[in-house]
Amino acid sequence: MPTLITDRIASLDYPDYANSHVFLKKPVHNVFFKQHDHHQHNNHGHHGGSGKATDLSAKELIGHALRQRVENIDHEFCDPGEEDTFYVADLGEVYRQHLRWKLNLPRVRPFYGILSSSIEDRRRLIPHTAVKCNPDPKLLHLLSALGTGFDCASKNEVEQVLRMGVDPSRIIYAQPCKTYSYVRSVTKQGVRQMTFDNPDELRKIARAFPEAELYLRILTDDSSSLCRLSLKFGASLDSTDGLLALARELGLNVVGVSFHVGSGASDPRAFLKAVQDAHWVFQQAATHGFVLRTLDVGGGFCSDSTFEEMAGVLCGALDDYFPAHSGVNIIGEPGRYYASSAFTLACNIIARRTINDGSSTSGDANYMVYVNDGLYGNFSSIMYDHQHPEAKVLRAGGRTLYNTPGAIAYDGPGSIEYSIWGPTCDGIDRITESIRFRTTLDVGDWLYFEDMGAYTKCSATTFNGFSNEHDVVYVCSEPGAMSLLEWD
Ligand code: PLP
Repeated sequence: MPTLITDRIASLDYPDYANSHVFLKKPVHNVFFKQHDHHQHNNHGHHGGSGKATDLSAKELIGHALRQRVENIDHEFCDPGEEDTFYVADLGEVYRQHLRWKLNLPRVRPFYGILSSSIEDRRRLIPHTAVKCNPDPKLLHLLSALGTGFDCASKNEVEQVLRMGVDPSRIIYAQPCKTYSYVRSVTKQGVRQMTFDNPDELRKIARAFPEAELYLRILTDDSSSLCRLSLKFGASLDSTDGLLALARELGLNVVGVSFHVGSGASDPRAFLKAVQDAHWVFQQAATHGFVLRTLDVGGGFCSDSTFEEMAGVLCGALDDYFPAHSGVNIIGEPGRYYASSAFTLACNIIARRTINDGSSTSGDANYMVYVNDGLYGNFSSIMYDHQHPEAKVLRAGGRTLYNTPGAIAYDGPGSIEYSIWGPTCDGIDRITESIRFRTTLDVGDWLYFEDMGAYTKCSATTFNGFSNEHDVVYVCSEPGAMSLLEWD
């Protein structure tokens, strides 16, 4: 992914990064670790801690952090919880994603808190990152420093963002069916922008906060997405006229249109159709006397190689229907796109059940392994987000294998088959039905899972008494991000 943008990045005008370094392909220098302990562990000096590594690529840096931690844990002697699941988060990856966003959506510009309707310069496509997919405080801190706005779904999310010192004008309460008391509360704290998609919500807003800046969220074709949202939210085009008429009658202020093509979208045409529909609603709104100023293109972007195509189609649609000279401000609400690839999860094998140790002639070696995280924990993404996290071997047989051929699944001769299970008593708590490795895995060994930053820990539970708070070891593979984070 970075190779696509490295050569062009230098030609972009990023005034707010004038003094930062943008390294996307080159080795990274002076990269740092920072550890955030959710537990008050009695550290025996064996965690990532803080330290300095030089001349490391992002992978090497993540590997170093993983190694430092797991090589210092002896499951036979450690205190309860010391072998717990933990994350390594590379905030440099978030930074690269931000640059990639700006490059591929040319109207995406760095943005520092100018969403209020009185600001004239609105020719920007602003990512309003969706807090819901991962409210990690350091991730939010970096995004805030990068100038994104924030899409919040509840009072708590709003308050978390406000506590970081973010101006309320950078927040959109993008939940079309809001809790009444939350509307009263967040608007008292200065949040004005919110979405609606039905008459009941409009009447609620008219009572709770008639000064709101409202976005009419329209229905989309989300049939190609991983997580469909339009079953629950979005006004159909045959209802928008009535909604706009009601808003006018209630004296409300509709300022824009929003949509979401579904999380984990895979068909770029969904963006084209949604932009066309939004354009139609803009015109409809004008007949009711509303001059809409903002289009919110929502989330749905993935961090994999589909992003460039998705962004290309969206850009084309925006240029056709909302050209620069239209004066319409464009914002987006990417969540998964920013968070997913930045987080790697390491899990400890806490138990093993031998189905076949390979000594008999009845088949290949075959084991069930149980790790200390599962569907009720950080793998909630399997249930809620339709993900298929891919296990890799971090440490087995006293060797750390991160990012080596021995780490990845292998189904050649002599391979050993595993099913991977979570720690709870529930039979659905299975992470992987079948995977084969070269290595024999045993109790105390470690697995890792990449791309675990979105819709994972935010929906983890404490079922069966397992913790849903796990350490995050922060690393940063981009000096530009480090300076924004003020890591020295
Ligand atoms: N905006 C809204 C209103 C959402 O409901 C969601 C996810 O559910 C998002 C943004 C983030 O979507 P994604 O993670 O697909 O970018």
